[in-house]
Amino acid sequence: MRMLNQRKLVIEFGRKLVSCGLTTGSGGNISLLERKQGLVAITPSGVDYFEITPGQVAVVDLSGKQVDGSGLPSSELGFHLALYADRPEVNAVVHTHSPYATTLACLNWELPPAHYLVGFAGSKVPLAPYHTYGTPELARAVVKAMRGYNAALLANHGLVAVEGTLPRAFAVAEEIEFAARVYYQAKAVGEPKILNAKQMKAVLSKFQTYGQQ
Ligand code: 13P
Ligand code: ZN
Repeated sequence: MRMLNQRKLVIEFGRKLVSCGLTTGSGGNISLLERKQGLVAITPSGVDYFEITPGQVAVVDLSGKQVDGSGLPSSELGFHLALYADRPEVNAVVHTHSPYATTLACLNWELPPAHYLVGFAGSKVPLAPYHTYGTPELARAVVKAMRGYNAALLANHGLVAVEGTLPRAFAVAEEIEFAARVYYQAKAVGEPKILNAKQMKAVLSKFQTYGQQ
Protein backbone atom coordinates (compact mmCIF):
# COMPACT_ATOMS: atom_id res chain seq x y z
CA MET A 1 0.00 0.00 0.00
CA ARG A 2 1.55 3.33 -1.05
CA MET A 3 1.87 6.16 1.50
CA LEU A 4 0.71 3.97 4.40
CA ASN A 5 2.20 6.21 7.11
CA GLN A 6 0.73 9.32 5.52
CA ARG A 7 -2.69 7.64 5.22
CA LYS A 8 -2.58 6.71 8.92
CA LEU A 9 -1.69 10.29 9.86
CA VAL A 10 -4.55 11.66 7.76
CA ILE A 11 -6.96 9.34 9.60
CA GLU A 12 -5.51 10.20 13.03
CA PHE A 13 -5.89 13.95 12.45
CA GLY A 14 -9.33 13.50 10.85
CA ARG A 15 -10.50 11.91 14.10
CA LYS A 16 -8.93 14.76 16.04
CA LEU A 17 -10.97 17.20 13.94
CA VAL A 18 -14.13 15.66 15.36
CA SER A 19 -12.87 15.04 18.91
CA CYS A 20 -11.58 18.64 19.19
CA GLY A 21 -14.92 20.03 17.99
CA LEU A 22 -13.46 21.44 14.76
CA THR A 23 -16.02 19.78 12.50
CA THR A 24 -19.16 17.63 12.49
CA GLY A 25 -20.06 14.46 10.58
CA SER A 26 -17.88 14.05 7.52
CA GLY A 27 -17.46 17.83 7.12
CA GLY A 28 -13.99 19.20 6.41
CA ASN A 29 -11.09 17.25 4.94
CA ILE A 30 -7.35 16.71 5.35
CA SER A 31 -4.46 16.03 3.01
CA LEU A 32 -0.75 15.42 3.31
CA LEU A 33 1.78 15.85 0.49
CA GLU A 34 4.94 13.79 0.07
CA ARG A 35 6.84 16.21 -2.15
CA LYS A 36 9.64 13.83 -3.15
CA GLN A 37 7.15 11.35 -4.60
CA GLY A 38 4.71 14.04 -5.75
CA LEU A 39 1.87 12.15 -4.05
CA VAL A 40 -0.97 13.38 -1.85
CA ALA A 41 -2.95 11.30 0.68
CA ILE A 42 -6.43 12.83 1.12
CA THR A 43 -9.52 11.89 3.10
CA PRO A 44 -12.23 10.07 1.15
CA SER A 45 -15.38 12.10 0.39
CA GLY A 46 -18.33 11.83 2.75
CA VAL A 47 -16.98 9.08 5.01
CA ASP A 48 -17.34 9.28 8.82
CA TYR A 49 -13.86 10.03 10.22
CA PHE A 50 -14.11 7.15 12.70
CA GLU A 51 -14.89 4.67 9.91
CA ILE A 52 -12.14 5.57 7.43
CA THR A 53 -9.66 2.72 6.90
CA PRO A 54 -6.10 3.25 5.57
CA GLY A 55 -7.11 1.43 2.37
CA GLN A 56 -9.87 3.97 1.74
CA VAL A 57 -7.65 7.05 1.96
CA ALA A 58 -7.18 8.27 -1.61
CA VAL A 59 -3.67 8.75 -2.99
CA VAL A 60 -3.46 11.12 -5.96
CA ASP A 61 -0.63 12.66 -7.93
CA LEU A 62 -0.24 16.42 -8.25
CA SER A 63 -2.42 16.44 -11.39
CA GLY A 64 -5.25 14.84 -9.38
CA LYS A 65 -4.97 11.38 -10.93
CA GLN A 66 -5.81 8.72 -8.35
CA VAL A 67 -2.98 6.20 -8.06
CA ASP A 68 -4.09 4.23 -4.98
CA GLY A 69 -6.78 3.95 -2.29
CA SER A 70 -10.33 2.67 -2.77
CA GLY A 71 -12.15 5.86 -1.67
CA LEU A 72 -13.27 8.67 -3.95
CA PRO A 73 -11.10 11.66 -2.93
CA SER A 74 -12.56 14.61 -1.01
CA SER A 75 -14.73 16.93 -3.09
CA GLU A 76 -12.24 19.70 -2.15
CA LEU A 77 -9.28 17.97 -3.81
CA GLY A 78 -9.16 21.00 -6.13
CA PHE A 79 -8.18 23.54 -3.46
CA HIS A 80 -5.80 21.11 -1.75
CA LEU A 81 -3.88 20.61 -5.03
CA ALA A 82 -4.08 24.28 -5.96
CA LEU A 83 -2.52 25.22 -2.59
CA TYR A 84 0.32 22.70 -3.06
CA ALA A 85 0.97 24.09 -6.53
CA ASP A 86 1.00 27.70 -5.31
CA ARG A 87 2.90 27.25 -2.02
CA PRO A 88 6.16 25.27 -2.17
CA GLU A 89 6.55 25.39 1.63
CA VAL A 90 3.12 23.82 2.28
CA ASN A 91 2.84 20.04 2.75
CA ALA A 92 -0.46 19.72 4.66
CA VAL A 93 -3.94 21.20 4.27
CA VAL A 94 -6.66 21.06 6.95
CA HIS A 95 -10.20 22.20 6.10
CA THR A 96 -12.72 22.54 8.96
CA HIS A 97 -16.26 23.69 9.60
CA SER A 98 -15.30 24.82 13.11
CA PRO A 99 -18.20 26.74 14.68
CA TYR A 100 -16.73 30.15 15.55
CA ALA A 101 -14.57 30.54 12.44
CA THR A 102 -17.60 29.48 10.41
CA THR A 103 -19.79 32.01 12.25
CA LEU A 104 -17.48 34.85 11.16
CA ALA A 105 -17.31 33.33 7.65
CA CYS A 106 -21.13 33.41 7.48
CA LEU A 107 -21.01 37.12 8.36
CA ASN A 108 -18.46 37.45 5.54
CA TRP A 109 -16.03 39.01 8.03
CA GLU A 110 -12.28 38.62 8.19
CA LEU A 111 -10.72 37.78 11.57
CA PRO A 112 -8.61 40.71 12.80
CA PRO A 113 -5.84 40.17 15.38
CA ALA A 114 -7.78 40.86 18.57
CA HIS A 115 -5.82 37.93 20.05
CA TYR A 116 -2.16 37.50 19.21
CA LEU A 117 -2.68 33.82 18.27
CA VAL A 118 -4.13 35.07 14.97
CA GLY A 119 -0.38 35.12 14.22
CA PHE A 120 -0.65 31.38 13.47
CA ALA A 121 -2.27 32.53 10.20
CA GLY A 122 -0.39 35.80 9.71
CA SER A 123 -1.31 39.42 10.43
CA LYS A 124 -5.04 38.52 10.15
CA VAL A 125 -7.22 35.72 8.76
CA PRO A 126 -8.49 36.85 5.35
CA LEU A 127 -11.86 35.92 3.83
CA ALA A 128 -12.17 34.02 0.55
CA PRO A 129 -15.40 34.94 -1.27
CA TYR A 130 -18.22 32.42 -1.50
CA HIS A 131 -18.29 29.77 -4.23
CA THR A 132 -20.04 26.39 -4.25
CA TYR A 133 -18.03 23.75 -2.37
CA GLY A 134 -15.81 21.54 -4.51
CA THR A 135 -15.61 23.92 -7.50
CA PRO A 136 -12.59 25.26 -9.42
CA GLU A 137 -13.90 28.77 -8.61
CA LEU A 138 -13.59 28.02 -4.88
CA ALA A 139 -10.09 26.59 -5.41
CA ARG A 140 -8.98 29.77 -7.21
CA ALA A 141 -10.52 32.02 -4.54
CA VAL A 142 -8.83 30.07 -1.72
CA VAL A 143 -5.38 30.24 -3.31
CA LYS A 144 -5.74 33.97 -3.97
CA ALA A 145 -6.99 34.79 -0.44
CA MET A 146 -4.26 32.73 1.23
CA ARG A 147 -1.24 34.34 -0.45
CA GLY A 148 0.80 35.56 2.53
CA TYR A 149 -1.38 33.73 5.08
CA ASN A 150 -1.57 30.23 6.56
CA ALA A 151 -5.35 30.29 6.98
CA ALA A 152 -8.45 31.79 5.39
CA LEU A 153 -12.12 31.91 6.26
CA LEU A 154 -14.28 30.55 3.43
CA ALA A 155 -17.37 32.73 3.13
CA ASN A 156 -20.56 30.92 4.21
CA HIS A 157 -18.58 27.70 4.61
CA GLY A 158 -15.62 27.26 7.03
CA LEU A 159 -11.86 27.52 7.39
CA VAL A 160 -8.74 26.33 5.56
CA ALA A 161 -5.33 26.06 7.25
CA VAL A 162 -1.94 25.11 5.78
CA GLU A 163 1.57 24.45 7.10
CA GLY A 164 4.74 22.50 6.43
CA THR A 165 3.58 19.48 8.45
CA LEU A 166 0.18 18.03 9.36
CA PRO A 167 0.48 18.59 13.14
CA ARG A 168 1.32 22.23 12.42
CA ALA A 169 -1.54 22.72 9.94
CA PHE A 170 -3.88 21.20 12.52
CA ALA A 171 -2.51 23.60 15.17
CA VAL A 172 -3.22 26.55 12.85
CA ALA A 173 -6.84 25.38 12.47
CA GLU A 174 -7.18 24.88 16.24
CA GLU A 175 -5.65 28.23 17.26
CA ILE A 176 -7.62 30.17 14.65
CA GLU A 177 -10.83 28.59 15.92
CA PHE A 178 -9.82 29.72 19.45
CA ALA A 179 -9.07 33.26 18.22
CA ALA A 180 -12.38 33.36 16.31
CA ARG A 181 -14.25 32.30 19.44
CA VAL A 182 -12.54 34.93 21.59
CA TYR A 183 -13.27 37.61 18.97
CA TYR A 184 -16.92 36.57 18.80
CA GLN A 185 -17.23 36.60 22.60
CA ALA A 186 -15.49 39.97 22.91
CA LYS A 187 -17.78 41.41 20.19
CA ALA A 188 -20.79 40.15 22.14
CA VAL A 189 -20.00 42.35 25.15
CA GLY A 190 -17.98 45.26 23.75
CA GLU A 191 -15.56 46.33 21.05
CA PRO A 192 -12.37 44.25 21.04
CA LYS A 193 -9.09 46.15 20.87
CA ILE A 194 -7.25 45.08 17.73
CA LEU A 195 -3.46 44.67 17.82
CA ASN A 196 -1.67 47.04 15.46
CA ALA A 197 0.71 46.15 12.61
CA LYS A 198 3.81 46.74 14.77
CA GLN A 199 2.48 44.53 17.57
CA MET A 200 1.64 41.73 15.11
CA LYS A 201 5.04 42.06 13.43
CA ALA A 202 6.66 41.46 16.82
CA VAL A 203 4.45 38.37 17.39
CA LEU A 204 5.23 36.91 13.96
CA SER A 205 8.94 37.41 14.49
CA LYS A 206 8.83 35.83 17.98
CA PHE A 207 6.89 32.82 16.61
CA GLN A 208 10.01 31.89 14.59
CA THR A 209 11.65 30.73 17.82
CA TYR A 210 8.57 29.62 19.79
CA GLY A 211 8.63 26.27 21.60
CA GLN A 212 11.40 23.68 21.90
CA GLN A 213 14.22 24.65 19.56
P1 13P B 1 -15.76 15.90 1.53
O1 13P B 1 -16.44 14.90 2.45
O2 13P B 1 -16.01 15.58 0.07
O3 13P B 1 -14.30 16.06 1.87
O4 13P B 1 -16.49 17.31 1.72
C1 13P B 1 -16.61 17.90 2.96
C2 13P B 1 -16.51 19.39 2.86
O5 13P B 1 -16.21 20.00 3.86
C3 13P B 1 -16.76 20.09 1.58
O6 13P B 1 -16.38 21.41 1.66
ZN1 ZN C 1 -16.28 22.19 3.67
